[in-house]
Amino acid sequence: KVKESGRNGIRMFTPAMAAEVRNKLERIDDLRRAIESDEFVVHYQTQRDAALGTIIGVEALVRWNHPIRGLLAPSEFVPLAEETGLIVAVGDIVLNKACRQAKDWQKRGVAAVRVAVNVSTRQFLEPSLTAQVRQALSDADLDPEWLELEVTESLIMKDVDGAIARMHELKALGVSLSIDDFGTGYSSLSMLKRFPLSRLKIDRSFIADIPNDSGDMAITNAIVSLAKLLGLEVVAEGVETEEQARFLKDTGCELFQGFLFARPLPPADVERLLLVRPD
Ligand code: C2E
Ligand code: MG
Ligand code: MG
Ligand code: MG
Repeated sequence: KVKESGRNGIRMFTPAMAAEVRNKLERIDDLRRAIESDEFVVHYQTQRDAALGTIIGVEALVRWNHPIRGLLAPSEFVPLAEETGLIVAVGDIVLNKACRQAKDWQKRGVAAVRVAVNVSTRQFLEPSLTAQVRQALSDADLDPEWLELEVTESLIMKDVDGAIARMHELKALGVSLSIDDFGTGYSSLSMLKRFPLSRLKIDRSFIADIPNDSGDMAITNAIVSLAKLLGLEVVAEGVETEEQARFLKDTGCELFQGFLFARPLPPADVERLLLVRPD
């Protein structure tokens, strides 16, 4: 953050600020180096059919396997990657790894599951995104129906017409699109009709206080019923308790993702879950 200019409009550049700048430059270098040396790994969190309990998909969640700092969560590096534009390279890595992973599970007869990949604002605005997705699918030899791209509500609301055009381009590849963290932005449900979407993911802040917050329960209920009117599937994120799962199932929510079922896990651990057949 740049320091507020003083009364005379003069910016004081203090040693502390110099250190901060140096530190940031180092972190950017580190991120660049990590891209070069392939330090990003992808963990996967299962998405289960609410009625049958079967795993129908996984969400790809990036982690940075840092040589000194250990395994880092997205919150520790995605914001900087986003700010510097390096997220485009990181996102491409994740996309490629996720497509290969889904294909590998299919080829080896583990399971056929859809893989959902998060697309950041910078990536979404990048003109080459569609070409990148097409390339990743073809390199992995993955049928596009198995790939889902998650975009956030705030991202698409920034430039609605631009987002619609971009989404149609992606949709034409045969992939499906979902809105992540739904309910936290400002889209109206009538606006949603204009986007070529397959599903909505209810933000986990609405799920967290079920069954104690009747307001959240009412909102969740409304999101599920209106989504259904629009022909969209609904995924609940952050399902942590049986009670939440029961409530969500009663509202008609079709898919569950959350710690109650599984945390995001490395591929080998997810594979073990995929091999378990319910009943
Ligand atoms: P998201 O896409 O909304 O992903 C869901 C996040 O919620 C994950 O955090 C997941 O671990 C967490 N979560 C899932 N179930 C539960 C639950 O039951 N309880 C709680 N408390 N948390 C739960 P994670 O992996 O730390 O990712 C955080 C965010 O970082 C993601 O939110 C997404 O916005 C971003 N992200 C992750 N991977 C990528 C990526 O490859 N590219 C981009 N651009 N962003 C990514
Ligand atoms: Mg997501
Ligand atoms: Mg989310
Ligand atoms: Mg999020």
